[in-house]
Amino acid sequence: MSMRVEASIERCQAYGNCVEVAEDVYDLVNGNVVVLLEEPPEEARERARLGARLCPVSAISIVE
Ligand code: SF4
Repeated sequence: MSMRVEASIERCQAYGNCVEVAEDVYDLVNGNVVVLLEEPPEEARERARLGARLCPVSAISIVE
């Protein structure tokens, strides 16, 4: 099974929660979320999910 991570820069308010828990998956550039690993490997998936859950504005969607 693969995982795909998508983030909406329109929704992102730069809270940074996602980056705090998964800095290998997410980054903030000029106040916008950037997905560094759009198809994260197995070992990064739990962090990717956590980052999505902690986003206060639900800017991250995960398709599995
Ligand atoms: S947690 Fe949500 S609002 Fe905050 S930087 Fe990440 S995507 Fe943007």
